[in-house]
Amino acid sequence: MRKTAIFNDSLFVDHDPGFDHPESPDRLKVINKVLAQEQVKNCFVFPEFSPATHKTIGMNHSTELMNRVAETAGKVFDALDPDTKTSPDSYAAAILAVGALTTGVDLLKSGEIDNAFAFVRPPGHHAEKKQSMGFCLFNNVAVAARHAIENCGMERVMIVDWDLHHGNGTQNSFYETDKVLYVSTHQFPYYPGTGDVEETGKGKGEGYTINIPLPGYQGDSEYACIFNDIIVPVGREYKPDLILVSCGFDIYRGDPLGLMEVTAPGFAYLTRCMVNLAEEVCDGKLLVTLEGGYDLDGQRDGAMAVLSELCGQSLDTGQPVNLTDEYAAELSSAKCQHPAIEQARSVVKRFWKL
Ligand SMILES: [Zn+2]
Repeated sequence: MRKTAIFNDSLFVDHDPGFDHPESPDRLKVINKVLAQEQVKNCFVFPEFSPATHKTIGMNHSTELMNRVAETAGKVFDALDPDTKTSPDSYAAAILAVGALTTGVDLLKSGEIDNAFAFVRPPGHHAEKKQSMGFCLFNNVAVAARHAIENCGMERVMIVDWDLHHGNGTQNSFYETDKVLYVSTHQFPYYPGTGDVEETGKGKGEGYTINIPLPGYQGDSEYACIFNDIIVPVGREYKPDLILVSCGFDIYRGDPLGLMEVTAPGFAYLTRCMVNLAEEVCDGKLLVTLEGGYDLDGQRDGAMAVLSELCGQSLDTGQPVNLTDEYAAELSSAKCQHPAIEQARSVVKRFWKL
């Protein structure tokens, strides 16, 4: 069994964008309810962590943006863009979310933990350098990647973003560098509009942004095929020092914002691919962070499926989340000729050996 850390704090539930907003505190409450069970809790460690400073967040964001988000502190309501609303504790939650990820990187680097899941809110992958957007205040995963490179001596970081939406903020943060390889699967065309297959990076970063835009109704076998045939081989060739996963459960079947059909055992399979890749190339250093996901069953079962694979032990939560040997074998040999996947494969082949 691996030493898997969970980063969690009541502040992440206190961030509340308001009545009827899909990015609601309930998204974490359903996960926390399962994590409170003794037999689940005992499988994990819960490290302490502190809010990130503006110096740390400033590696990825402008001073103006940090000050703008800080201004929301204590205010009953504010809006950073039409979708991105705040409550009195949102700023505190946002700086703590970044702190969870940077602490995760530190503990992976020191070897105190093997891998981790940061159950943070607000999410991060849409946040741009100078603009909070799409429910995201600061780009948690982008700051973590910068921290790994600028403060922890890592040379290459791979970010795998399987959220339903394209992580425009993360892509833009690293579009012109080869130090971060950003790979995204997303429903397309869809919010936020970016993530075309031909967006492949620029200058030194050419080839280090990989977009796999997909039409709706893709399920476990299509995602498995993308991971087996594109993401894992590219990761093997890139040999990152750390793998970060922007984990959105909005590709779960039945999610109200998306059309994808991934099941809980499907999430387990994608995680297993990442765990195995991390063990092969970077001593298992893998940090998963919560992005979107708006179906509460999807949140709960998806989270448990990912956690089971991270720690290497089935979590018996009464829900059918685990990956059977039969299903794992089926997904590992999944073949998919979907034109969107074929097109992505042909673009990726310009830069990587597939
Ligand atoms: Zn999303």
